[in-house]
Amino acid sequence: MGKRYVCDYCNKAMVATPAIVRTHNKGLIHQKFVQQHYQQFKDPETILREESKKKRCTKYASGECAYGSICRFTHYSEAQIRELQEMVAAKSMPKDVMFPSFEELVHKLLDEKTNDKQQNSREKDGNTVMYDSNGVTHVFPWTYNSILESYGEDLPPSVQRLKTDDFTDAKIATWG
Ligand SMILES: [Zn+2]
Ligand SMILES: [Zn+2]
Repeated sequence: MGKRYVCDYCNKAMVATPAIVRTHNKGLIHQKFVQQHYQQFKDPETILREESKKKRCTKYASGECAYGSICRFTHYSEAQIRELQEMVAAKSMPKDVMFPSFEELVHKLLDEKTNDKQQNSREKDGNTVMYDSNGVTHVFPWTYNSILESYGEDLPPSVQRLKTDDFTDAKIATWG
């Protein structure tokens, strides 16, 4: 028994001789399956570009076209072409149209700040946000562990709790 060759596109087994495989690969049915396989990976831009170049297949509408996806005329209806055009248009829309404007972002940020303040007054030892007397908000990227407080001044400066005074008395260099 000779070796078998299975064409993955057509899911068809045949005797694995070069001549038979070559004939199969040239066949209309095989080419249709290959075309169908790659069509599903094409993006709408490519399909639209390819299909709008073709004339409409007159045989396809009546179900008589034997060429399927390798027909040199398009099998896409006007409605389907329009759908493709809409998909492409939606994709090429400038990205920032979908995103909030700068103004919206500022409002969102202010809202969050207000919420933070409320939260802060509720849990005084919330630790991660502090407001100094200059009205500056300090958000700490860590959470203070209140157990450390019992060590008092013996703690190394790096783990000592920051006080508002640490910020108001700070000598701030002016830039430029
Ligand atoms: Zn095949
Ligand atoms: Zn056709």
